[in-house]
Amino acid sequence: MHEMSVAQNILEIVREHVSAEEEYKIKTIRLKIGELAGIVPDSLLFCFDAVKNGSSLHNASLDVEYVSITAQCKHCGKTSPLDYGVFFCPACSNADITLLTGNELNIVEIELDD
Ligand SMILES: [Zn+2]
Repeated sequence: MHEMSVAQNILEIVREHVSAEEEYKIKTIRLKIGELAGIVPDSLLFCFDAVKNGSSLHNASLDVEYVSITAQCKHCGKTSPLDYGVFFCPACSNADITLLTGNELNIVEIELDD
């Protein structure tokens, strides 16, 4: 399952950024996930719960912000929100677009309990 490896990655990345003592104090891990990142939200939360159990991060929970898709048209220059699966400019129907948001899979913040 894709979400399982993503959940494990999150755990590893978080561990690289905090000290061993801090790992136990992690309360919230804030993520930004784009609509195009291919992550099923409920599935990720489920997998994260599974991988954090018995680890030093068992107190941590995920706080996910979903990022919708926006793109800029290279033809008319307009920036527009796109529906999932639509890859042309809504204004002029040109397919030559640059994706601005929607691909994110980022850890934004690690919040510790004090
Ligand atoms: Zn356009």
